[in-house]
Amino acid sequence: MKVGIARDERFLEHKTGHYHPEHPKRLDAIYRMLDQHFKDRLILVPSSPATLEQIERIHSPSYIKRILKTAEQRITSLAPDTPISAESYYAAWLAAGACVNGIDSLMANTCDAFFAFVRPPGHHALPDKASGFCIFNNVAIAAQYAIDRYAIERILVIDWDIHHGNGIHDIFYDNPKVLYVSTHDLMMYPYTGEIDQTGKDEGDGYTVNIPILREFTDNDMIYLYQEILRPLIAGYRPQLIMVAAGFDAHANDPIGRSRLTEATYGGVTRLLKHLRSLPENPPFFYTLEGGYDQRALAESIKTILTELTGGLSPMPPLSPGPAATDLVAQVKKIHLPYGILS
Ligand SMILES: [Zn+2]
Repeated sequence: MKVGIARDERFLEHKTGHYHPEHPKRLDAIYRMLDQHFKDRLILVPSSPATLEQIERIHSPSYIKRILKTAEQRITSLAPDTPISAESYYAAWLAAGACVNGIDSLMANTCDAFFAFVRPPGHHALPDKASGFCIFNNVAIAAQYAIDRYAIERILVIDWDIHHGNGIHDIFYDNPKVLYVSTHDLMMYPYTGEIDQTGKDEGDGYTVNIPILREFTDNDMIYLYQEILRPLIAGYRPQLIMVAAGFDAHANDPIGRSRLTEATYGGVTRLLKHLRSLPENPPFFYTLEGGYDQRALAESIKTILTELTGGLSPMPPLSPGPAATDLVAQVKKIHLPYGILS
C-alpha cells in the first residue's frame, strides 16, 4: 500500500507541563522511529490548519472562541486533566487540519493508507468540552469532512485506545454514516461505553461498544477483532476505515492496565488488509490518540507501518481464551437484531 503520513514539528509546541503523560516527547519518539525505519518510504502529506467551517461542523462556536482565547495566556486549564499552553490552540487546529488533509490525500488516491502523527489527541473531545487531554475531535472532524466533501455514506471507525472514545461515540451516536467500534476498559476514564449502548434513532445498531478484560492477550484481541470485523465489514461495506489509534492498552503503558503488546496493533492491521478486498476497497486512515510509554508507542506504530508497507502475510492461527470467545458471543447476541453483525 502507498502510505501517507502527517508529521510536523509544530505539534511539539503544544505544552502540557513537565510531568503530564501527554508530552511532546511522545511524538519525538515516533518521529525518530520513522527516520530510522521508514525514511523515504512514506509520503509526507503537509499539515495545514483546518478551516473554521470544518471545525464548526463538530464544535460549537462558543467553545471554539474559548479555545482561541487561550492564546492570550501562558497556561490554561481546559479541564483538570487538560492543561494547555499559549501555542496549543494552533497545534489543535493543525492536528484537525492534518486529518482533513489526510482524507483529501486518500480520496485523491495519493495514498491508500494514511497515519496522522499529531497531538493533541481528540477522541474524548465533545462539541463544547475539552477533556482527557483532547481539544478538538480530530477523527470526528475528518469523518464529517469526508461525509460533507466526498459524500461518503459509510465510515467504519475503530477505536482501540484503552479509554472509551466518548467524543466520537456521542457525536455520531444517532448517525448511521459512522459505525463506531470501540474496545476499552470500562473501569477507566471516562467510564462510559457499556456493551448495550448500541446507538439511537437512525443510528441504532451503528455503535458497537466492547468492554474488554485486563487479562486479554494479543491472541484474544486479534481473535475478537477478527470475529467482529469480518461480519461487520461484509455487512456494512465501509467506504473508509478510520482508526482512533491509541496505544495505552500496551502492557508497558504507565496509564493503561492491560497486557497487550505491539503484536495486537500489527495483527489487527494485517486483519484489516485481509478484510479490505471489497468492491469499495476502502482506504485506511489512522490518527494518534493515547499511548504514554515512548518505546511501546514507537514499536506499536512500527508494526502497523511494517504491515501497511509490506506484502500480505497470512493470518496466524489464533487460540483465544474462553473469556474472549464469550465476549464475542455476547456482542453478537446484542447486535444480532440490527442485521449488520450476523
Ligand atoms: Zn487513552
